[in-house]
Amino acid sequence: MAEAWTGPCRVCGREFGENEKPDANGWCAKCRALLVSRSTRVAWLPTVLFALGFYALVAWGGLLESRFMVVWLALGVALAWVTFKVARRVAFDVIRSRMTPRAGV
Ligand SMILES: [Zn+2]
Repeated sequence: MAEAWTGPCRVCGREFGENEKPDANGWCAKCRALLVSRSTRVAWLPTVLFALGFYALVAWGGLLESRFMVVWLALGVALAWVTFKVARRVAFDVIRSRMTPRAGV
């Protein structure tokens, strides 16, 4: 991982131009953008499930009527955000390893 990638893009095989630089994994900007958008889409599912679960829990506990309702909702949003970040990170790694064709490194 110490050396910078010098070949063409490891995913689409496109050569890098003068002003283009591969990222640490040897991916071009186009493939990376695709990876990011895919993992973002995938990450929405667990986030929505979590948000629904959290909302159900709060509603079931009667907390929506409590004085701290705003706090509970803020907590839910914060936790959903963390869920989203973690899910996207995991999806990113999974999709990346799937998209990388027989990567040696
Ligand atoms: Zn590429």
